[in-house]
Amino acid sequence: MTDGSLENTKERCNQILRNMEASLTARDRVGIQDFVLLDPHTSESAFLDNLRKRFHENLIYTYIGTLLVSVNPYKELDIYSKKQMDTYMGVNFFELPPHIYALADNVFRTMQSEFNNHFILISGESGAGKTEASKKILQFYAVSCPSTKLLNNVRDRLLLSNPVLEAFGNAKTLKNDNSSRFGKYMDIQFDHQGGAVGGHILSYLLEKSRVVHQNHGERNFHIFYQLVEGGEEDLLRWLGLERNCKNYRYLVQGDCAKVSSINDKSDWKTVRKALSVIEFSESDTEHLFGIIASVLHLGNIKFDVDARGYATLNNNQEMHWVSKLLGIPNQVLQQGLTHRKIEAKTEEVFSPFSVDHAVYARDALAKAIYGRTFNWLVNKINESLANKDSSRKTVIGLLDIYGFEVFSVNSFEQFCINYCNEKLQQLFIELTLKSEQEEYEMEGIEWEPVPYFNNKIICDLVEEKFRGIISLLDEECLRPGEATDITFLEKMEEKIGGHPHFVTHKLGDQKTRKTLDRGDFRLLHYAGEVTYCSDLLDYYSFPVIFKVMRQSKNAIIKHCFPSTEPDSKRRPETVSNPDDGAQCLSDPSSQVRPSHPVRCVFRFDLRSFDVVVLPAGHFNDVLVRHQVKYLGLMEHLRVRRAGFAYRRKYEIFLQRYKPLCPDTWPNWKGTAAEGVQLLIKHLGYKPDEYKMGRTKIFIRHPRTLFATEDAFQVC
Ligand code: ADP
Ligand code: MG
Repeated sequence: MTDGSLENTKERCNQILRNMEASLTARDRVGIQDFVLLDPHTSESAFLDNLRKRFHENLIYTYIGTLLVSVNPYKELDIYSKKQMDTYMGVNFFELPPHIYALADNVFRTMQSEFNNHFILISGESGAGKTEASKKILQFYAVSCPSTKLLNNVRDRLLLSNPVLEAFGNAKTLKNDNSSRFGKYMDIQFDHQGGAVGGHILSYLLEKSRVVHQNHGERNFHIFYQLVEGGEEDLLRWLGLERNCKNYRYLVQGDCAKVSSINDKSDWKTVRKALSVIEFSESDTEHLFGIIASVLHLGNIKFDVDARGYATLNNNQEMHWVSKLLGIPNQVLQQGLTHRKIEAKTEEVFSPFSVDHAVYARDALAKAIYGRTFNWLVNKINESLANKDSSRKTVIGLLDIYGFEVFSVNSFEQFCINYCNEKLQQLFIELTLKSEQEEYEMEGIEWEPVPYFNNKIICDLVEEKFRGIISLLDEECLRPGEATDITFLEKMEEKIGGHPHFVTHKLGDQKTRKTLDRGDFRLLHYAGEVTYCSDLLDYYSFPVIFKVMRQSKNAIIKHCFPSTEPDSKRRPETVSNPDDGAQCLSDPSSQVRPSHPVRCVFRFDLRSFDVVVLPAGHFNDVLVRHQVKYLGLMEHLRVRRAGFAYRRKYEIFLQRYKPLCPDTWPNWKGTAAEGVQLLIKHLGYKPDEYKMGRTKIFIRHPRTLFATEDAFQVC
């Protein structure tokens, strides 16, 4: 190392220290940019004060070590320009004010220098800003990664997959005009040079009930409105649609087809363009829009009552369009929507539906068609994003799942979503609070344990073999005809009645009884209480009409309803049932869990970098406080403050930095730990800056490592 480089390093260190001092001086006005620097006994109020102060200065990002906390400004801030991206590229984490770009850049550079996979977990409740955060990260990579013609093509597809997925998977809700109604795990694959060469998307839990029902003030999925408002005249004529959302029952239940913040017409154009970039063929798009239109026509089908009180369809105009667009004979469709097939020994017997039953079958069909088409769409996008080159790649995974949900009536879909969120919270806890503390213990580092609420107890309540809610549901489904909502509820009361996170009317105290109907049950989730109706059994039925879909001439529908699918699910495969949300019960955290070799898309060797988003707009204390509490941010802070920002295996640390010390360069013959000891002595690490564990060195502040890294870069 030359003297010059040492000077250079010292200067960089001083700069970082000066920045920190400046930030301490400015603290009164703009708060502090890393919670770790707040007073050691920070209370929740002080934590909130700091967030609030910063928020009022439009400083929406704050660190807790390497965890980024972001508060939704609900207004455009001038902090996402190309210039800003350039500023954050290649600069150490703590040298500039906190930013999502700093996190993205840091993850990218660590991935490149260590050639391993990372993932970024984005948590927070609905509307807090998770999807925007994931888009900002993607945009940063699109701009910062090396570009060639081929890479630009991949980049465009990665970027344009977003508007397509959002059109089909997002909707206006009361909390968010562009709320993701599905969970998304996306990985971006990079080659040795850091070029983005491909990607892969997994989707979870599409909220299919929205296709047929929307609460007041909410809309169906964007694509329906985009098609009706923006679709070309010829297209609409071919699809039998009129340019008026009000004419379609599935679009008007929320009574807000028009939303001021949404321009369906121009969004339609974006989606059209994106579909062509992602290489959807003419026939794919034709079939796709045929399906969307068929769902709208399905929704308008009204059943008449015949003399015996059963549902009939008399030369129904909508039926004609559905039949045409799905390529299924009208008679076959009508029969499927109004009858149930009873398997008798020698013949097929059809038993007619009541009108209620027919409406149920119609809606079930609309949901299944839409849900399966969505899955087809994701697969199609994946084909387009697939990296054809088999050489080793590294990936950065982004997990953006829609947050915890509590409605006035919560059914199977909310149950799945909230279970999913429990699992993600567990993953978050495991990767941060639990594994961090366990590692200190394993490495023999002196450590005062920080207690935290581990939500494993709730996950077990749902998923435990033989006595978890899902197992009990499976058991009930094995008794078709006998099992009802009530027997299911009774079974739960018998098997899990004593569980501290489960309560029913019968089990509850007087106060609980007042707020809990007899048919419902309540789970005390980590994020709050949710009351579910026990109609979960409904969601396991498999109407005969699905079988009819196999005759379709529409290529997508044919693909989505394969003849290999069993006709009836006597035993519902909870984890793999493709309908009605059950598939979501395979939890997304298993896909990204570092030590899960089977289901993993890629193995993740390193700990995660996380983003926590908080809802604000105008800084709502109660809301933010609640989130701070249930996301465990105070516990996180305690662990971070007392802990060590970086740790590296002695071998890796020595291998990288041994050129910095004449005693270890070029060949070190002793143990890696001894080598590291010599190395850091030479670098002048102070005793309180690091700890030597059994196999790793632990470094308290990132700035120490950054200074070493800088010295390495210039030597
Ligand atoms: P979530 O995915 O958590 O439900 P979104 O990411 O869709 O929430 O954000 C909801 C809305 O909040 C966005 O449509 C946007 O208007 C606003 N928003 C979120 N993040 C930002 C940000 N960083 N800057 C400005 N507005 C934001
Ligand atoms: Mg979202």
